[in-house]
Amino acid sequence: MLKGKTAVITGSTSGIGLGIARALAGQGCKVMLNGLGDQAAIEATRAAVAAEFGVEVDFDAANMASGEDCARLIEAAERRFGAVDILVNNAGIQHVAPVEAFPPERWDAVIAVNLSSAFHTIHAALPGMKARQWGRIVNVASAHGLVASANKSAYVASKHGLIGLTKVVALEVAQTPITCNAICPGWVLTPLVQAQIEARAQAQGKTVADAQFDLLIEKQPSARFTTVEQLGALAVFLCGEGAANITGASLPADGGWTAQ
Ligand code: NAD
Repeated sequence: MLKGKTAVITGSTSGIGLGIARALAGQGCKVMLNGLGDQAAIEATRAAVAAEFGVEVDFDAANMASGEDCARLIEAAERRFGAVDILVNNAGIQHVAPVEAFPPERWDAVIAVNLSSAFHTIHAALPGMKARQWGRIVNVASAHGLVASANKSAYVASKHGLIGLTKVVALEVAQTPITCNAICPGWVLTPLVQAQIEARAQAQGKTVADAQFDLLIEKQPSARFTTVEQLGALAVFLCGEGAANITGASLPADGGWTAQ
């Protein structure tokens, strides 16, 4: 069913976004990658996904902190592939500090990349989805879109906001063949989390292995990381016919974190 569809995945040069891009490419989707990083490494990733799955894969360096760039990304994908059928809003950043020590410019950056970018891409992509009478929007929120942790004010606010945006968009397009859902991962071992584990190990004078176990067990009852492959499979499911009447949902993939 997804063969030949076009997918834009923001923040897909590493981690969860790349996992979702690979899963959609595996279904025969044409894929527009996006994100930051070393240009040669990104080109190697782009070429590897194209070769492994035999689909067209392009890359756009749009900065998700800029509303104009977000709109430009959707326009570029529509020009390149003729449509944006699937939009995965995944780009995200983190900053950890208590509210009173939280640098205001980091607050603005987290809200811009994690929340406002999804507004801007959806704003740009919805008219085309409506015209073609099909669309899937998958917003990568977090367990932190459903519950909070200390020292993550901007991240938790952005992810709660993203779930709110997901619900509003779902309601606005409820009577069209377009769905909008959020997925809410718990801990996934990506560069974003690796940085938090290393900071924790340093702050607490622990080994990285001990800090990793502590991080997991504190929140995630399964004591296992969610994998990018599992999140790719969840995104594929949400894009398929079996999920055609699932909309406005926030689906945890968190080893029981938010069941507590
Ligand atoms: P990651 O750091 O591996 O990947 C983040 C991606 O976003 C990268 O491709 C990066 O280049 C891109 N990015 C960052 N700032 C950008 C910008 N301004 N413009 C364009 N791209 C930008 O992180 P990840 O862990 O894979 O996180 C992906 C998403 O999943 C984020 O929204 C994150 O909040 C969410 N998430 C992650 C976890 C986890 O445990 N790793 C858990 C829940 C939710």
